[in-house]
Amino acid sequence: MQHSMDKNKVHSFFRVSVALLLLVFVDSTIPATVQESTADRLHTHVAWLADAARQGRRAGSAGAAESATYISTQFRQLGFEVEVQEFGANRRNVIARYGSANKTILAGAHYDGQGPGFPSAGDNAAGVAVLLELARNMKAAKLPATLVLCAFDDEEQGLNGSVYFADHPTVPLENVYAAVVFDALGRRFMDLNEWTTIVLGEVDDIARQAARDLVEHWTAVLPPRPLAMGA
Ligand SMILES: [Zn+2]
Repeated sequence: MQHSMDKNKVHSFFRVSVALLLLVFVDSTIPATVQESTADRLHTHVAWLADAARQGRRAGSAGAAESATYISTQFRQLGFEVEVQEFGANRRNVIARYGSANKTILAGAHYDGQGPGFPSAGDNAAGVAVLLELARNMKAAKLPATLVLCAFDDEEQGLNGSVYFADHPTVPLENVYAAVVFDALGRRFMDLNEWTTIVLGEVDDIARQAARDLVEHWTAVLPPRPLAMGA
């Protein structure tokens, strides 16, 4: 991110959807057992967040608040510092941080869902599950950067959590040099028949190639494993 980036640009920056950073740390030499436990953990997170007891995690609901606690606990167990950023009406962003370098990598995913009757598994329990695994893997990779991982609340009603964070950042945004937001993963999208990765935002040739590499890599490493929980 450039120092000169204005607020609108910062907002659109956080609206970038889906995919790239996994390339930084994913290694095709990872033993099969590690890959399997990663898949198991992803499944566990999605199953917990999409459970009927969470009632679709609508922003402001008890299910969303419980989900924030679950996500905070997971980040803390991984050794991250966690800050809960309340922004009214029982809504909160969960912001996890690891490292002290100026250079910062930010990744995010919204955890709120569409409410009762909607498990909101693909959109976006799956994105949160990836965020939690990302925390584990990026920490292990010992990157020369501070990791800031944000689980945003109240996305479904208008991107309110991420906009609040952009307006009230808890880390210096001018130090963020890469940001990725994960949304609607592990599912087909709209009327597309194929598994599809959509990359939005300020995409250059490097990002485009990284997206292709990512899809190729994950197709080989973690073949889609439908959860049969609905969207
Ligand atoms: Zn979403």
